[in-house]
Amino acid sequence: MERLIEGYRQFRKTGWPRERALYEELANGQSPEYLIISCCDSRADPALIFNARPGELFVLRNVANIVPPFEQGNGYHGTSSAIAFAVLQLKVRSVVVMGHATCGGIAAALDRKVAAQTPFLSEWISLLEPAVARCAHEDGDRHTATEREGVRLSLERLMSFPFIAERVQKGLLKLEGARFGIANGQLEWLDKESGEFRRVE
Ligand SMILES: [Zn+2]
Repeated sequence: MERLIEGYRQFRKTGWPRERALYEELANGQSPEYLIISCCDSRADPALIFNARPGELFVLRNVANIVPPFEQGNGYHGTSSAIAFAVLQLKVRSVVVMGHATCGGIAAALDRKVAAQTPFLSEWISLLEPAVARCAHEDGDRHTATEREGVRLSLERLMSFPFIAERVQKGLLKLEGARFGIANGQLEWLDKESGEFRRVE
């Protein structure tokens, strides 16, 4: 815990005074413009990558930045409840699904042995099966192709949520895809016209 307590002390000394007025204002409520859906991976932190201030990003992180299909009925819909809250209550204007390089969740989807010893993970990762299938004949870097395809799949699934499809069609909400390169710090953005990821310069 020493590392965390020391980090907090640094924050109180520098980050807190710098953003104090903003935090006081944010105590009255948040109205982030963006919902970011990203991986739990410690190397791909949206707040750092987008240089965000407190209150700017509503961040939902899960293994491999997966959006499950829209489902009704009982269940612990952790991911879907956060999406619903961000879109319906906070009224975010954009949803960005951000994948990343060397994603362990994608590795687990490509080789089911990876997740075999971890409770819950195999079933969660099975949501990526359509993305894995679409990249099955990829000749080059299949891992990277599946990371990109996983982002496309999550974006398609977002449109299966009626309240999202409705807002997108009315022009009230945008859906975007991205992928962070980790080793090179390079962000790729999904070009909607071509369906390809392009480097952000
Ligand atoms: Zn990951």
